[in-house]
Order: sequence, then structure tokens, then C-alpha cells
Amino acid sequence: MEELKKIIRDVPDFPKKGIVFKDITTLLADGPSFHRMIDLLAHRYVGRGIQKVVGVEARGFVLGSALAYKLGAGIALVRKPGKLPWKTLQKTYELEYGTDTLEIHIDAFKPGEKVLIADDLLATGGTVAAVVDLVTQLEADIVECAFMAELEFLEGRKRLPEGKVFSLLKF
Ligand code: IMP
Repeated sequence: MEELKKIIRDVPDFPKKGIVFKDITTLLADGPSFHRMIDLLAHRYVGRGIQKVVGVEARGFVLGSALAYKLGAGIALVRKPGKLPWKTLQKTYELEYGTDTLEIHIDAFKPGEKVLIADDLLATGGTVAAVVDLVTQLEADIVECAFMAELEFLEGRKRLPEGKVFSLLKF
């Protein structure tokens, strides 16, 4: 795991001064590391009856689609407003400054469908808390929320369902 962690690049002062951004594109760009990361995550969910993975725009699509393929599951897309063509359910959530909105198709799941939520990185937890809300409103059954990486000091997992959060690389 330490080897995978080392490949993630720190970008100081992005997107604004004082923030050290974890740039996971360096891991995605390295074939053997990307393969290992997906295999390690997929291994955790094999045999758990996952029917659909939920990918969160945009880097969550990369992780989500690779996991869905490995698990033989479908993928549902959570997107920024105005991108999805069918009827949507929306969730607006607080950011440090202002708000953001995410959308999902209203028929993304059948009631009780077993889903895995996937995103690249867990920071404050606001993004995936909004996704959990959307998935719950659509009556799907959340198996877990899976992340490539987690910024533990931000304690984002406290905002997510207890015992249903897994991250591979902890910072
Ligand atoms: P949260 O809502 O604060 O947990 O932020 C998580 C969302 O912002 C995820 O969708 C990430 O893609 C993105 N994000 C926040 N911080 C970082 C970072 O340091 N590296 C990569 N993505 C980040």
C-alpha cells in the first residue's frame, strides 16, 4: 500500500492557497499500479451480491466503471446538474463556500438493489453524504462506500453510514 501511496502526487496550493491536493491521476496513469488498486478494491466486494456501482462525477467514474466491470455489476452515474438526459433526483449540499448539486436518474435502481458507491477520494465527506442521500431516497441498499484514498484528518467518514466506509490508501 505504501508503494501505491507514493505514486499519488501532492500539489500544493490547489485549488487554492493552503490546500495540498492529492493528485490521483499519477496513479491512474501507471498501468501496474492502477491494475493493483482496482484488484485490491474489487477483491473486497466479490461475492457480496453487488448489483450496481454508483460512480460520482468525474474521477469516481474511472474507479466505478473498472469496479463494476470486475464485479459484473451495472453502473449508475451521479452527475453535476444538467448533464443527465432523463428525469432526475437532485441533492444540494454545503461546501466550505457556497453549495453544490448532484443528480441521479430517478430510475437508477430497483428498490432493494445492492449498490456500492465509488469515488476517488474521501475528504470532508460532503460529496458522498449527498450521494448516500440520493441512493437512500431511491430505496437502494448501500453495501459500502469505497474510495481509492481518504484524508483521515478531515474525518469525512463520520458523515457517512457507520461501518460502511472503506478506503484503500489513508493519508
Ligand atoms: P469531500 O466532499 O470534501 O469529501 O470532497 C471529496 C470530493 O472532492 C471528491 O469527489 C474528490 O474528487 C474531490 N477532492 C477533494 N479533495 C481532493 C484531493 O485532495 N484530491 C482529489 N480529489 C479531491
